[in-house]
Amino acid sequence: MGYVETKNLHKHFGDVRAVDGVDLDVKEGELVVLLGPSGCGKTTLMRMIAGLETPTAGEIYIAGEHMDKDVPPRARGIAMVFQSYALYPHKTAYRNIAFPLEAMGTPARVTKERVHGGARMFSIERLLDRFPRQLSGGERQRVALARAVVRDPKVFLFDEPLSNLDAQLRAVARYELKEFQRQLGTTTIYVTHDQVEAMGLGDRIVVMDKGKVRQIGSPQEVYEHPADTFVATFLGSPPMNLVEHDEGTLFGFRPEHFLPKPVFTAHEEVFTYHLRVRQVEHLGADRLVYGHLDEVSRSDQPVIAALPVTITTPIAEGQVYEFAVPRRAMRYFDRRTGLGRKDGAA
Ligand code: ATP
Repeated sequence: MGYVETKNLHKHFGDVRAVDGVDLDVKEGELVVLLGPSGCGKTTLMRMIAGLETPTAGEIYIAGEHMDKDVPPRARGIAMVFQSYALYPHKTAYRNIAFPLEAMGTPARVTKERVHGGARMFSIERLLDRFPRQLSGGERQRVALARAVVRDPKVFLFDEPLSNLDAQLRAVARYELKEFQRQLGTTTIYVTHDQVEAMGLGDRIVVMDKGKVRQIGSPQEVYEHPADTFVATFLGSPPMNLVEHDEGTLFGFRPEHFLPKPVFTAHEEVFTYHLRVRQVEHLGADRLVYGHLDEVSRSDQPVIAALPVTITTPIAEGQVYEFAVPRRAMRYFDRRTGLGRKDGAA
């Protein structure tokens, strides 16, 4: 049995099926990321696990215990960090971190030790006397994380905790968050709509759409073997190219696998296309080449090739070039249902 489990979990708001039959199985110590577009039900799922929302149907288990709707959030052994850090503005960082411990009746000496321990973990010891308004966004976020950690919960629930940070700080905070989660070994569920964050943090990723789970797997699995065209195009920037092969089949290939034909050795088995180049973008590490395939007459969607800087082949807009995709990188989808087919079964 998983450490956090949901069985056929539903939440309906009137006609809206915010969560529509979700089975989750999060193992002890695992960091699982819920990823999906806005409105796909991530937060609602999290709030039900937290006990902030009552399920319409289905069951939730935490550490083997059934979380009946009567089990309140504070009795679930969870600690939450949300996008709005919800720090008390009139309490210092110290008092903010200490508050949940004091509320549980923890002896003052233990509280002090834990607060300093949590502060050390996030390098905020020198900020403990400040009020939230005297802290930067990143520092506030660390206080919120320290406050979650000191309670020594069974499970962390994080809902976009890094989204208020700028891009640079976000990358650092992501690294730190993963470090401390590994150190503590606390089972964690993390909500984001940012695929880079999901890929970087998650032991496994749960890709959701319209209240349903589309795929659960390691970052590598969901990226390399997407279960359907939704996952294929939601993950990856630019997304996977999908081109019509015949009436029933779509071929899918990632831009980084779509390269000028001369790059491949003669032994490599490849699919070759003629790429009519419309636009070239130089992005530093990559060169993105947008164009259309001469072989695919009905396709009105451009395909994109992502060439690393190490490939210096000259490419000019308006010209046609032979590009190729290695067979091992080609994916196949049913055109009607969007579902993936076994690789190699075109
Ligand atoms: P975001 O990334 O934008 O936060 P999300 O994936 O977390 O989105 P939810 O907040 O779980 O999505 O919402 C899922 C669906 O349920 C949406 O269509 C939303 O409008 C609807 N919904 C959420 N809460 C309520 C509510 N209290 N009443 C009515 N509808 C709601």
